[in-house]
Amino acid sequence: MRVAVLSDVHANLEALDAVLERADALGARRFFVLGDLVGYGADPNAVIERLTASDATMICGNHDLAATGGFDLSWFNDAAAAAIEWTTRVLSAASTEVLAGLSPLRDVDGTLLVHGSVRDPVAEYLLGTDDARASFGLRGFDLAFFGHTHLPTVFACDPDGRVRGWVLPEDRPLPIEPGVRYLLNPGSVGQPRDGDARASFLMCEEGGAVLHRVRYPIERAQRKIREAGLPAWLADRLAVGQ
Ligand code: ZN
Repeated sequence: MRVAVLSDVHANLEALDAVLERADALGARRFFVLGDLVGYGADPNAVIERLTASDATMICGNHDLAATGGFDLSWFNDAAAAAIEWTTRVLSAASTEVLAGLSPLRDVDGTLLVHGSVRDPVAEYLLGTDDARASFGLRGFDLAFFGHTHLPTVFACDPDGRVRGWVLPEDRPLPIEPGVRYLLNPGSVGQPRDGDARASFLMCEEGGAVLHRVRYPIERAQRKIREAGLPAWLADRLAVGQ
């Protein structure tokens, strides 16, 4: 079965719609969403409605927890904290209920979904092989998906325990090899930070995964952020993928 893996949508409805359309065209039958549905962007309620309507299997991220009172705002920079406060004000009761019902770690038939890492599902930025090794050591999964860094990344743990990490290239199938364990990050739908402004997501099926990048109407998402009175930097950064 083809599964589309999405992360860090961050209330960017334009990016989410472009990704859902592409994933549907690629035959996605199921959606995994790795948290940070909200924060930064101007469409938190519409994003939650879309993902709920897609029957997505979701976990929460640090921004979702902060928006529902479950994570300390002092952890965030000024723009992120301002966006959380704005989000908390505009979230509908139904959206708040959806977010409050999510956990930052979920086991889906042996496949692990985490926002940050296995070691710290909420807040750890999994960026290097030492940190990945710690997560591989904590649970006996073969495949885990993580988000939070907004960078498309793979960490692989070979049968001899050696851990390798690299950037996931676009459109090039990654074979999932028997005996090798994987931690995969699909990049960010709503706020990519690898210098490429296009939305990022992963398509997975038995034996392999492919990273896809999708253009979306960035100007429309930027305009909504400015009109909502959110920090202008949150609009500006979308254009440069940072
Ligand atoms: Zn995020």
